[in-house]
Amino acid sequence: MKRLGLASAPLEPYRQAAARGVLALPYCERCAAWQWPPRAVCSRCPEPPGWRLASGNGRIATWSVVARAPRAELQRDAPYIVAFIDLDEGVRMFSRITATDRSEVRAGARVRCVFEAWSDPAVPLPVFVIAEG
Ligand SMILES: [Zn+2]
Repeated sequence: MKRLGLASAPLEPYRQAAARGVLALPYCERCAAWQWPPRAVCSRCPEPPGWRLASGNGRIATWSVVARAPRAELQRDAPYIVAFIDLDEGVRMFSRITATDRSEVRAGARVRCVFEAWSDPAVPLPVFVIAEG
């Protein structure tokens, strides 16, 4: 079973949003700053960030095809596409592109977040698909 990597952050707001198919990201109200990855304190001040619903939209910054998975449980998915996604909120997320047509996968392509169940079905993980139009 594929394991997820969002270990220790308090994920309940994220989980509730993801269950509705919506991406929530850490957000510091004091700094008016989106954050990623989740962390105990803001990247700019000592406050703990809260969570805010995000657009789930972004662009591929760069991407690669993984032909040989780093762990056995991922090998059945190989080859698969990993990418850095520049979200419209201004943070960069490392994730997967799940696309049937690889010719659409390119730097700058618009993508939107969808969710996949991994090891913990209660905490679906964000992956991205090529956005229409
Ligand atoms: Zn802050």
